Amino acid sequence: MASSDWGYDGKNGPEQWSKLYPIANGNNQSPIDIKTHEVKHDTSLKPISISYNPANAKEIVNVGHSFHVVFDENNNQSVLKGGPLSEGYKLAQFHFHWGSTNDSGSEHTVDGVKYSGELHLVHWNSGKYPSIADAISKSDGLAIIGVLMKVGQANPNLQKILDAINAVKTKGKRAPFTNFDPSTLLPASLDYWTYAGSLTHPPLHESVTWFICKDSISVSPEQLSQFRSLLSNAEGETAVPILHNNRPPQPLKGRTVKASF
Ligand SMILES: [Zn+2]
Repeated sequence: MASSDWGYDGKNGPEQWSKLYPIANGNNQSPIDIKTHEVKHDTSLKPISISYNPANAKEIVNVGHSFHVVFDENNNQSVLKGGPLSEGYKLAQFHFHWGSTNDSGSEHTVDGVKYSGELHLVHWNSGKYPSIADAISKSDGLAIIGVLMKVGQANPNLQKILDAINAVKTKGKRAPFTNFDPSTLLPASLDYWTYAGSLTHPPLHESVTWFICKDSISVSPEQLSQFRSLLSNAEGETAVPILHNNRPPQPLKGRTVKASF
């Protein structure tokens, strides 16, 4: 398995990642199953504070296992603060995870319940590090907001993104994606669970302060089909749809999950 070969199926799937990325068996891996009766309510946790600037949205990119909506690195005023964070974290990109059927697709689960998808808003510690490249491997380097997606009504706030997928169907394609406020994707309540974890795919760095929103957002079966229409192959190669891209929950290994509510 070459480092570019990791994927979500069979010989390249999550069970094999540890061969090239031993940290896959580490003590702070993500995602996890959130067991609500074991969560510790923490009255000292501050609310999430978000200020996103729609003008910082830059482009949409097919990265082969998913697509990223990327935010401008320079002059970026889109910042996450609060919770257990002691610095401001700038928004770098957001992306989604989904499953082959509507019965799965989220990475985090709640009391064993799988959702149909999961949104990840990825931020880096710009108060302490000069770039996301420096921050990505540091224990306090990243903060990711995860939002579970529940199959049901069509979500109008997702549609601009799903329509843009058509411009980046194959691996390596990129297209402008501007003037978008990612806070429109968040649930009404920002009550959250938080824990120390990792990136959910290689290189699996244990550098993430996770915020999983208690409330989910909706996604329709048709919208989930649009996610699955993205291709992992390059242009001109045989079409290989990305039917699923979610890592299963990993052992908690003694970590504490805290709740803001
Ligand atoms: Zn993710």
